[in-house]
Amino acid sequence: MFKKILIANRGEIALRVQRACRELGVKAVMVYSEADRDAKYVRLADEAVCIGPAPAGQSYLHMPAIISAAEVTDAEAIHPGYGFLSENADFAERVEKSGFQFIGPTAQSIRIMGDKVSAKQAMIKAGVPCVPGSEGELPEDPAEIRRIAKTIGYPVIIKAAGGGGGRGMRVVHTEAALVNAVQMTKSEAQAAFGNPAVYMEKFLQNPRHIEIQIIADNFRNAIYLGERDCSMQRRHQKVIEEAPAFGIPRRLVERIGERCVMACKRIGYRGAGTFEFLYENGEFYFIEMNTRVQVEHPVTELITGIDIVKTQIMVAAGYKLPVTQRQVQLKGHAIECRINAEDPFKFTPSPGRITAWHAPGGPGVRVDSHVYAGYFVPSNYDSMIGKIIVHGDTREEALARMRSALLETVVEGIKTNIPLHRELVVDASFCAGGTNIHYLEKWMEQRS
Ligand code: ADP
Repeated sequence: MFKKILIANRGEIALRVQRACRELGVKAVMVYSEADRDAKYVRLADEAVCIGPAPAGQSYLHMPAIISAAEVTDAEAIHPGYGFLSENADFAERVEKSGFQFIGPTAQSIRIMGDKVSAKQAMIKAGVPCVPGSEGELPEDPAEIRRIAKTIGYPVIIKAAGGGGGRGMRVVHTEAALVNAVQMTKSEAQAAFGNPAVYMEKFLQNPRHIEIQIIADNFRNAIYLGERDCSMQRRHQKVIEEAPAFGIPRRLVERIGERCVMACKRIGYRGAGTFEFLYENGEFYFIEMNTRVQVEHPVTELITGIDIVKTQIMVAAGYKLPVTQRQVQLKGHAIECRINAEDPFKFTPSPGRITAWHAPGGPGVRVDSHVYAGYFVPSNYDSMIGKIIVHGDTREEALARMRSALLETVVEGIKTNIPLHRELVVDASFCAGGTNIHYLEKWMEQRS
């Protein structure tokens, strides 16, 4: 096992990885920007290194500062968390060239999956079903673009090959709007991701977002840890996640899970990863793969009893997967609410000082959060300040536990989206199960 790992992230995931290190008896080096100097996981760290000022470009995204921090502290491996540099193939390469282990897949796997066009091509080769669309990047010729859209059938969605975080997508309903929409998405993609390449997919009208968690070791063993339903979204950003997905026949999940495992073996994937699908009318359609731990990993941990972060570290250290596919048993139901520092209904960010903080507890309740009373939420980063995750024997029990947990939670000094969650967990359609990716936005429209 490693003696020391550097955690190249901040916030709740930095704390989550620090906890995994402590359980494994591994020393964790925390890096922090000037804005995160007072964070408790920094104060309570075995070692901590300031890597620069608040703007992420000068700290959490600044590769030389992170690699020097690993050098001066003698860390052996780097855990990238999610966001920031976690899916940057150049970073993974530089980490390994500098003599450290990157806790994640190879730079080559990250590169293939980071470009959604090459990811889809790899999946088609591996026999994973994809959303019907353009074969590869869209050409320049408007007539050709119109021809492709006609073959796919409207509405279509134009997506940036380098896109992420729900950005770089545009839905097109008519031929009249098509070419202009392609041009606009291209220039946005160039500005946001430094890559103007876009592709086209059929825009599915009523899908659910279902994803498969996988984990693989260096010995070509790979397993899937069931599925998650992340259909409760706003602007393509997840708000509530759960596992397992309500009402999808197990044999369909098993079939797609096995396909994902086969794809992992085929591309020589190592570490944790997620295959994201849209699910409509009993069919799965691959949309993208994330080559890192995800925000919503705890719901899978609660129903499988497998610690994904510890397993990531173990396989990076050269251990074999601790369980076989047969040993993966799903138990009960888990739900996660993402807690954001924002206005619950207008969604404007609400950074500032938290004056009171009371986290919920009781049977089956887990809180992954780095905040505390007196903590200052900086305005420089993502607004998520933590996650409430519950587990119950049934979906009903999990929902009841979430309602109770949300009632118990007290956050003062800033606004949070807890009032939104309190309404959603009693909403009749959500409680019935199986709502699709458009449900939350329609619900919001009706509410206002
Ligand atoms: P990102 O990398 O930005 O998260 P994804 O490709 O994973 O982008 O898509 C994010 C979300 O956008 C999906 O969960 C879904 O809600 C929506 N979406 C993406 N592709 C389609 C599609 N072809 N039809 C309908 N909705 C889509």
